[in-house]
This record gives sequence, structure tokens and C-alpha cells, in this order.
Amino acid sequence: MSNYKELKREAFEANVALPRQGLINLTFGNASAADRDRGVFAIKPSGVDYEELRAKDMVVVDFEGKRVEGDLNPSSDTPTHRRLLLAFPAIGGVVHTHSSHATAFAQAGQAIPIFGTTHADYFNGDIPVTRKMTEAEIATAYEWETGNVIVERMNNLDPLDFPGILVNRHAPFTWGKTVAKAVEAAVAVECIAHMALMSLQLAPKLARIEPELLNKHFKRKHGADAYYGQSSK
Ligand SMILES: [Zn+2]
Repeated sequence: MSNYKELKREAFEANVALPRQGLINLTFGNASAADRDRGVFAIKPSGVDYEELRAKDMVVVDFEGKRVEGDLNPSSDTPTHRRLLLAFPAIGGVVHTHSSHATAFAQAGQAIPIFGTTHADYFNGDIPVTRKMTEAEIATAYEWETGNVIVERMNNLDPLDFPGILVNRHAPFTWGKTVAKAVEAAVAVECIAHMALMSLQLAPKLARIEPELLNKHFKRKHGADAYYGQSSK
């Protein structure tokens, strides 16, 4: 009998959404869902094929990194998820993929320039990229240090205004108030990256979106005066 049935279900649904959305090949990628009241998060087990994944296989880990429920080892990226959940109290879930277009920008070490309204619906500016990790960071607690370079780059950025980042030479991480929102951000980042690449092909010197259009799109979905959608506030 699980003490975390709902949380594991939430994490499971997010994980299986990733290959369904075309964001994952093989076993690259993972999603975690946090329950802050109970001080834990549920994450995909390490190296398990998505086809064979079951909700009960999700591993529950506390914020100190200790496994509190589950027989399997948690994803090897668990320390990165834990670092982000600790650093950003407003978020409730983290997603990591190696989706191709976003990863192309990450490998090139380039932020994704904000060219259009699709991007501005989700991000209040360019999708940032971290610095490269040092040899020492790679040799020691690599996954935890991956979280650290993300936190370092996010300095002064609101994680809900910038719900994702590219890790240099690696791939995107996204997050949101819930893990479902983090999955949505992962889909958005991949679409945005794809469109940015195509825009750069058509217009290699393309300038960024005009600030008034960025503000219009970002603010109608985010913040105190948001009016997009069916929210009943
Ligand atoms: Zn990865």
C-alpha cells in the first residue's frame, strides 16, 4: 500500500506524456512531481523503458535526497530535480528532455532568442542558457552541480517568468507550478526552438520581437492582469 499514490500517479502521467509528445527517445528524460507539504517528490526510476513504466514504479524521495518509497533506484538526474525544487519554492514539478531542437541550441551554447508571440506566451525574454560546467563540477557531484549552474544562471530571473533553461552542451530543463505545467513548458520550449531555427534560416539577421508585443503576450497570460483563457478569478 502506497502512502503517495496520488503523487506517484501525477509523476507517472507526466513521464509517459513525454514520449507521447515526441520529446523523448530511448530513456533520455524524466519528470518529477513535488508534494511540498509532505517534503517529498516522486520521480521516474532510473533506466526503465517508457513502455514498461507503471505508476507504482515511481520513486518517492525527500528533499534531503533520501528514498522514502519505492524498490527501484530513482533517475540518475534526481539531484538536479532536487536542487531546482529547493531553489525555486514556487514550482511543483520539473521536466528534463533531450528534445532535438531545444538540444541543438543547448549544444551550441546559445540562448533561444525571442522572435515571436508563441515564445512570448511562455517566456518573458530569451530562453536562457547556462555557462559550461567546469571539469571539477563534472568530475564530482555532476547532477547536483547541473542544478547549481541552472540556479546560478537564473539569478534574478523569476522561475515562473522563465519556466525553463538550456544546460550548455546538454539539453533543456523546464518547470512549473505543477508537473503538468512543466510538461507543457517542455513542449513549448521544443516548438519555440524549432520555430526559432527556421526563422533564422529565413532571416539570419532577424531582430527580437518588439517589446510592446512581448509585453502584450506575456502579460495577458501571466501576472495580476492576465485575461487569457477561462480562469475564473
Ligand atoms: Zn539529460
